[in-house]
Amino acid sequence: MGGFLTALKCKGIVIKTMDYKENDKILWIFTDKFGKISVIAKGAKKSKNRLFNLCLTFCFSELVLYKGKNMYRINEGNIIESFQGFLNDLDMLTYASYICELIDISMVENEPNLELFKLMLTAMYLLKSNAMDSDILLRAYETNVLKHTGYGLNLDFCSICHKKIVSADYINLQYYGGVCDECMKSQGIHLNRDTYSALKFLNTVPMEKVYRLNANDKIKNELQRVLYLIISNNYAKSPKSLQLFEFIKESEKNE
Ligand SMILES: [Zn+2]
Repeated sequence: MGGFLTALKCKGIVIKTMDYKENDKILWIFTDKFGKISVIAKGAKKSKNRLFNLCLTFCFSELVLYKGKNMYRINEGNIIESFQGFLNDLDMLTYASYICELIDISMVENEPNLELFKLMLTAMYLLKSNAMDSDILLRAYETNVLKHTGYGLNLDFCSICHKKIVSADYINLQYYGGVCDECMKSQGIHLNRDTYSALKFLNTVPMEKVYRLNANDKIKNELQRVLYLIISNNYAKSPKSLQLFEFIKESEKNE
């Protein structure tokens, strides 16, 4: 280790972890200031280590990091909310994992996105509070993740002729927008008019207020299908874990 490193303070939530070597962990943390970052936590695999609790998936903390040549290193932190209660309920665990996964696949590293950070945190707290239908929460979250990563849907105006849409049953996937009944329906997906209206609602209303949406199972299932399709169209990425291993080996050689 050479040179002086500056301590960087931020808030962050652990979205993914991986064991590394005998005692260490690699974490992917979504932070308010630095976006999604990869961090090495020395000794964090051992339960007696002071970093152990901070380095669990879902943990939301105030962190002190150091930036090495290629990656961050965690030094200390204070837990704000561990969210470890999700581990006691398989549904909660699945939903929380998905909230994290969506950040992982939609964000490249080291690109700050404070609005998305706030959104993700809101989703985690809303899930924990059990205050609304988790399916609706996840659909609202997906709609907003799309919006905050440059793939926001325009459902109020026709994406072809720009006329105001009152009701529609088609989304053009090239323009990320609705298509009115007069325009040509191609390069997109059909959906029920009620589902279109529900999606429009999710696209407009802040996430903490979407509990007002009254959707039956048919609409909920179609919303899930449509959003899944849009998300997998935009964020198709191959896993990067192996590349990261190479990266760390290289950076350790240089230290
Ligand atoms: Zn039109």
